Amino acid sequence: MAMETKNLKVDLLCLGARASGLDKGRKAGAGPAAGGMFLFGGTVVNVPTQSWFVAQSPYTVEAEDGGRYVIKREDERITEVKFPQAKFQELKTKEGIPYYKIALLHGANCLATTTIQTCIYWNTAKRCKFCAIELSLKSGATIAKKTPEQLAEVALAAQKLDHVKHVTLTTGTTSTPDNGIDHLLEIASAIKEATGLLIHAQFEPPKDLRIIDRLSDSVDTVGIHGESFDREVLKYVAPCKAEIPFQHYVDAWKRSVDVFGDSQVSSYVIVGLGESDESIINGSKLLAELGVYPFIVPLRPIPGSLLEKEKPPSPDRMRNIYEQVAVILRDTGVSQKKNKAGCVRCRACSALPDFE
Ligand code: SF4
Repeated sequence: MAMETKNLKVDLLCLGARASGLDKGRKAGAGPAAGGMFLFGGTVVNVPTQSWFVAQSPYTVEAEDGGRYVIKREDERITEVKFPQAKFQELKTKEGIPYYKIALLHGANCLATTTIQTCIYWNTAKRCKFCAIELSLKSGATIAKKTPEQLAEVALAAQKLDHVKHVTLTTGTTSTPDNGIDHLLEIASAIKEATGLLIHAQFEPPKDLRIIDRLSDSVDTVGIHGESFDREVLKYVAPCKAEIPFQHYVDAWKRSVDVFGDSQVSSYVIVGLGESDESIINGSKLLAELGVYPFIVPLRPIPGSLLEKEKPPSPDRMRNIYEQVAVILRDTGVSQKKNKAGCVRCRACSALPDFE
């Protein structure tokens, strides 16, 4: 029996797939760490392939004759799967830095990088428990701070060789009052000038919200991530974020929607941290009413992070949430289809776009 694409996507996001030998993904990092990008049925999924719970997944990826790959559930063949190719990742800069240490292909056609791979909270009790930002630095998979020149060079190659269409820039939080936004801006300007690509930037809400306006010339969409609407959960999981008053997030979202437009601002919302479904649904409603896209993702226990032993929420819980929030999106007019760049456009880490 054919399995609906969106249902398979949710299963894979939550359960992972055993893909031993096929996986070329990095072992650590922020974002889609410890996963592989799967393309099937017109969608793309960032599938956990290295976390502990993957060993219990009913899904496997296997090679077939003719160089094809298939996803199987138990032994039943479900669908053919492809893996996005990134020729640019094989190149090096003049100084000999491999491009893959500067940026990676995410999803089908997004170039992604962490511009500053360190965070002031990393060696403190305030570190976000789901994050692994400095682990990929320690493992040598990336470099600490990327320059605008390096990223312009890599983006141009990715555009030419791999038809990359948009860019996701994220950063660790710096000790300066701009929270790393000025560095994001320098990088975005250099990439924009070299390639004209659409650009998404993610950051913590700065104290002075006027800093956000500075991005409007070179950045097309922004992500300001509330992560959880349950303050108790947030205090435990992301103490540094819980210190920022919720109203300040709301003000930052509002100001960003004014600058970048409806559906061009997003917030990650993580399911599986101990919050209730109501918390997720009411929080997503609040976001959508502001014009912000609730990028709802199942908890991703990244190997090496403080939550590595946790388990993602069940696929049924995710499907139920996605169905309810899809109705809210329809009512408010917020939509993935309007979004120009970044995680929302890429959609590999959330199945909400597939339920719209
Ligand atoms: S949704 Fe965002 S973090 Fe996930 S693969 Fe796409 S660009 Fe990367």
